[in-house]
Amino acid sequence: MRRPLLVANWKMNKNHRQARSFAESLLAILAPETAGSAELVIAPPFTCLETLGTSLGDSRVDLAGQDVCAEEEGALTGEVSPGMLADLGCRYCIVGHSERRALFGETGEHVAAKATALLRAGLSPIVCVGETQGEREAGKTEEIVARQLETSLPRLKTPTAADLVVAYEPIWAIGTGVTATPEQAQEVHELLRDRLRQMLGEGAEEVRLQYGGSVGPANIQALMAQPDIDGALIGGASLDPESFASIVAKTELENTTP
Ligand code: PEP
Repeated sequence: MRRPLLVANWKMNKNHRQARSFAESLLAILAPETAGSAELVIAPPFTCLETLGTSLGDSRVDLAGQDVCAEEEGALTGEVSPGMLADLGCRYCIVGHSERRALFGETGEHVAAKATALLRAGLSPIVCVGETQGEREAGKTEEIVARQLETSLPRLKTPTAADLVVAYEPIWAIGTGVTATPEQAQEVHELLRDRLRQMLGEGAEEVRLQYGGSVGPANIQALMAQPDIDGALIGGASLDPESFASIVAKTELENTTP
């Protein structure tokens, strides 16, 4: 049984004061009746990690980085290492988000190196893959996401599958208000699961596959009802505590519906 995983990707939004006030509001809404079947994680800007960690305390909400350097230390101005994220209480880190691939030139090799470094430091990588609108229209979705998956997964002989998360984020659905239909998302998740079976064997059943792209309170339940959708990576709708809490509540409702 894969536990639903909801990750708030704040991108470059909120300063540390706003992060504290978000945490206070979120915990007030969540507590105490939603003890929770879903795992909840916030990936804030690096500058909010310490404040947010303190505000969330020992609540059910964990922390993630939005990116990481593959090196542990050294003369790498502006970079943040896996150990630094672990030290601030992060359990996860997003790698290979399409914005990093498109705007900062990250390749599958970079993403794989980061994912490998994260696992070595005891953090779980959330490896993002996804096609553009043009690639989908050209019938290349399968080819593109399969190649991204194969080149971006950690280079460890035996990665612990339960520690791996893959996020399918069609680029045409990110921040656009256009969501993939649950069937479109499931179709790609199913092919990702098949590829993972070829790469990891039985362990593939343990890898959580998240969908991302304009997820909100109105569409989360239908997405979570799909057999290979194990959670969501949420951008815009995660910036407001009420909206994020509503996504949590609907996920947990779906999860308890027979
Ligand atoms: C994202 O960028 O990870 C994302 C899914 O954004 P949004 O939910 O705003 O589409």
